[in-house]
Amino acid sequence: MDKNLLWHMKKKVNKVIENLNKNNIDGFYVENEKELKDKLNEVLKDNMTVSVGGSMTLFESGVIDFLRSGKYNFLDRYKENLSIKEIENIYKKTFFADAYITSTNALTEQGELYNIDGNGNRVAAMIYGPDQVIIIAGINKIVKDINEAKKRLREIAAPINAKRLNKNTPCTKVGYCMDCSSEDRICSSYVVLRRQRNKGRIKVIIVGKDLGY
Ligand code: SF4
Repeated sequence: MDKNLLWHMKKKVNKVIENLNKNNIDGFYVENEKELKDKLNEVLKDNMTVSVGGSMTLFESGVIDFLRSGKYNFLDRYKENLSIKEIENIYKKTFFADAYITSTNALTEQGELYNIDGNGNRVAAMIYGPDQVIIIAGINKIVKDINEAKKRLREIAAPINAKRLNKNTPCTKVGYCMDCSSEDRICSSYVVLRRQRNKGRIKVIIVGKDLGY
């Protein structure tokens, strides 16, 4: 990245981290996947029970492979040939996990997390249950405020996720949200996480590159 762009990006990241801290959420910045793994090694202890939310960011950043190393009791929802019942059981066990790792659809400069969920398991575990929640977010997820977060969801995250999941929804035809009533709608719960009651339960690790949608 150009050094001036890098300077500007870091200024913005610092503001996000400062505001996350005000909201009782720990914020960190890492340059790349190597530093991300170092940070995960720091916050996760061996043999911890770890679960993950649905996220392209975790695949792109190598976190899923990292969790499959055998160091952790990984509740692997992506393991091949799991039945729907087995996946649902993982969703339920997640509430008792030591750590839950996921991404966010948007992260505001005021230190808020904004997410839309179809099933609800992802946002539910972010709000309550696992002892620790670790959010990994590329810099592409940073937006000015909640209005911009909502715009990002309608114009980018939701339509692209619907396309990835092969959903038969209007957004997969036109590329933006049409607030559908279709059977395949992936947008059910709209959640703003503005503050964490237990200081430090949620940690946000911002990675200095684009990750996920
Ligand atoms: S509400 Fe419907 S059209 Fe809008 S993003 Fe969600 S699935 Fe797509």
